[in-house]
Amino acid sequence: MSSSEISELVNGLHKLARNLWWTWDQEAQEVFQELSPRSWQNLYHNAVAILHEVSDYELRVRLQDRDFASHARNVLRDFDSYMNEKDTWGRKNAPALHKNPVAYFSAEFGFHETLPIAAGGLGILAGDHTKSASDLDLGFVGISLFYREGYFQQSIDHNNWQTEFYSRLDPRNLPLEPVLDAKGKPVIVTVKIAMSEVKLLAWRVNVGRVPVYLLDANHPENEQHFRDLTKRVYGGDSTTRIMQEIILGVGGVRLLRTLGIQPSTFHMNEGHAAFLALEIIREKMLAGAKLNDAIAASKKECIFTTHTPVEAGHDRFTSELIAYAGHKFADQLKISHEQLMAFGRVDAKDAKEPFCMTVLALKVSRAANAVSELHGQVSREMWQCMFPGVAKDKVPIGHITNGIHVAGWMKGTVRRFWRTRLTSGNGAQASDTTRFWKTKAGHDWASEINSAEFWRKILDPNFISDEELWALRYKLRRELLEFSRRRLLLQAQRVTHEDFIAFDSLLNPDALTIGFARRFATYKRAPLIFEQLENIVRLTRDQKRPVQFVFAGKAHPRDDAGKQYIQKIIHLSKFSDLKGSLVFIENYDVHVARQMVSGCDVWLNNPRRPLEASGTSGMKAGCQGCLNLSILDGWWREGYDGTNGFAIGPDSHSEDVLEQDRADSANLYKALTEEVIPAFYDRDSNGIPRQWIQKIRSAMATLVVQFSTDRMVREYAEKYYLTK
Ligand SMILES: *Cc1c(COP(=O)(O)O)cnc(C)c1O
Repeated sequence: MSSSEISELVNGLHKLARNLWWTWDQEAQEVFQELSPRSWQNLYHNAVAILHEVSDYELRVRLQDRDFASHARNVLRDFDSYMNEKDTWGRKNAPALHKNPVAYFSAEFGFHETLPIAAGGLGILAGDHTKSASDLDLGFVGISLFYREGYFQQSIDHNNWQTEFYSRLDPRNLPLEPVLDAKGKPVIVTVKIAMSEVKLLAWRVNVGRVPVYLLDANHPENEQHFRDLTKRVYGGDSTTRIMQEIILGVGGVRLLRTLGIQPSTFHMNEGHAAFLALEIIREKMLAGAKLNDAIAASKKECIFTTHTPVEAGHDRFTSELIAYAGHKFADQLKISHEQLMAFGRVDAKDAKEPFCMTVLALKVSRAANAVSELHGQVSREMWQCMFPGVAKDKVPIGHITNGIHVAGWMKGTVRRFWRTRLTSGNGAQASDTTRFWKTKAGHDWASEINSAEFWRKILDPNFISDEELWALRYKLRRELLEFSRRRLLLQAQRVTHEDFIAFDSLLNPDALTIGFARRFATYKRAPLIFEQLENIVRLTRDQKRPVQFVFAGKAHPRDDAGKQYIQKIIHLSKFSDLKGSLVFIENYDVHVARQMVSGCDVWLNNPRRPLEASGTSGMKAGCQGCLNLSILDGWWREGYDGTNGFAIGPDSHSEDVLEQDRADSANLYKALTEEVIPAFYDRDSNGIPRQWIQKIRSAMATLVVQFSTDRMVREYAEKYYLTK
């Protein structure tokens, strides 16, 4: 190969590493992995870091290998065709957004384990929303903050107590590019916070076709305490919080203007971003509008998504804090402090009411929505107070049920599995050297996985046999087992007084494996299943029909009740009769999530209804053949149809919390022993659990497409982005 051809591949790979498209393309990942399999693992699947680990000289030499070069060339060709595709949903259905895009503001984005700037489901949803906006080719741009230390990492101390630590992220080793002006100088925007002008730098993350800009207060000319404002995701106290939100809202709008981007819609993902509306109002007043006209005009440009009925999830700031951190808002809008406070008060005249970001967001948006049908009902009730005289069901908050980015959440094993079935048809041999990009029908496989027709095919045993599906399930369970053993060994090496555990025999490869992983917010009731400890111990000890549990999750650093839940579960895993059948994997993140939602047989969710606005981890289970066992809350209330998984209790709940906990614990045990375990262990003469596999088929046919962000983003476009 000529030296210029090699240079072209080298440049292509560097460009690819800085576009997160590779995180949802299996073969692209394999190129980086192949360069250094060990570093791939140690660097936590970081393509940019791999290209620093491997010298340019090595890369050029390696590309003299014909197979590797052709692998790289194919991936780069696919990347190129993805980026330049013209026949897209967005160009057909939303061409106007290409000129005036949607600007999507979110305090967190969860894209991939190498860029840990999300705390939980909200950020993961924002990341998946963005990936699907790219797939659909929507005119779309994301805005967030670059948290230099990200979200905390979890480690568990001698008392089984969660402790938090942070590592400093190095932008040079991340899929980030500094945002520069035409002269190659960093673009800087300023925002007024308290008495100061704070300078903000910006970084660009390429998510397929979509840019996401991250604001960064770590500018050398800022005072240190301002530089630290963007240090950690939701770090610090409420003063830090309000200042982060000023940076996000005001700084975000200013950055877009500086870059010459004129959004048609500003989408606030949660109330954190709602200060953006005050900036838009200010702009309009600067251009001559009167306050009320400016408010009315800005309202046409904003939409708002609320994500939780949990009180603590709605930021509230005291009057003093607004006066201190945000007094410039009042100055700039030429209004009094009380008038400013009224933007965030349900009752404008109630001087005791704090400033609520959700109230602000509702007041300044042309449309608002919740994230599931039940959450819509709950939100309309919750915010009816803002619409006096409006009947509960007429409160203007709609709903769009959340989804996940299917290709991004599929484990590599599963992607490979479906890709070979899609491209070679049943029974035919797929040769290793064939490129699998195009399916027989000529579609690219990534769009096939968003097609209802494809997932309906899975109901057909001639397309795919029970035996094959069962083999896939075994492989995935085995992979989770090995992952867990490796992680538990690493965890134990940090704690010296630990009892000896035979890590290589931890967990049983044949046992029904139940997974639970999420933030340890107390309403999610992580230890609920262990309320019936003796019964659960008996189930794990059953020689013929054993069950076992894999748990993971982080508690908020200031949530001691959540940390006690973690402590309780780890204690059970080490010192009770559950030892060996219950493990807790530390440091839950998207990588751990992907292992668990694919390797577990059952995904457990038992929130206190109706507090789980949607939930998304159960959606990630569907495409990998893991079945949901969940309270009928959030998305599962819409997803469950009696055949595609399991429900805990009825579609109703007691208003009495203790009564609810008691009933849910009993119903959970009942579903487990009367439905889940019998279905899993009912094997035919070939050893195949036919009933179970039928449920897997049904789950795939009914859930994957419906609960995808592909469907969700199209719904946002049709319902909100394209209508004014
Ligand atoms: C999917 C996901 C979540 C959200 O899961 P829920 O079921 O909504 O609680 C949180 N954290 C991580 C790392 C995830 O991958």
